[in-house]
Amino acid sequence: MNSVANYFRSLALLELLKGMALTLRYMFAPKVTIRYPEEKTPKSNRFRGLHALRRYPNGEERCIACKLCEAVCPALAITIDSEQRDDGSRRTTRYDIDLFKCIYCGFCEESCPVDSIVETHIHEFHFENRGENVVSKQQLLAIGDRFEQDLAAARRQDAAYR
Ligand code: SF4
Ligand code: SF4
Repeated sequence: MNSVANYFRSLALLELLKGMALTLRYMFAPKVTIRYPEEKTPKSNRFRGLHALRRYPNGEERCIACKLCEAVCPALAITIDSEQRDDGSRRTTRYDIDLFKCIYCGFCEESCPVDSIVETHIHEFHFENRGENVVSKQQLLAIGDRFEQDLAAARRQDAAYR
């Protein structure tokens, strides 16, 4: 009896009509997908993307080579060498981050006492040659210089929670 009923139900194309009704319903429902990369979702000011080293407004680099970020990094992605300047201040001579090792945990950023190492909103980056995954101090400073306004704004927005 069941098979006869199923036969007549299939003749009436009930399943097809149900599917089309569902499609019709979703045609007018609010859309939750976007057309990436033309459209992008908003990002939190705490988003952790590509790293950058920041400078003070007078151009002096913020990093004092305390190596807290190197010590706290769970992936051992940061390598720092440092030396003392003639004026007695200490600065890095080498600051490398291996982005293949980095897990973007943000610990380096959290540990930095002078807001030097930070993570930008940039997440669309790639490497084309072997070794480009290790980002040097000069590259990190250049990223910091380029995005300083955005970085400072993100830190201002988050100041009450830090
Ligand atoms: S984000 Fe985390 S894993 Fe990456 S360099 Fe900083 S501390 Fe290391
Ligand atoms: S980036 Fe910050 S935490 Fe890392 S060595 Fe420089 S001052 Fe210290």
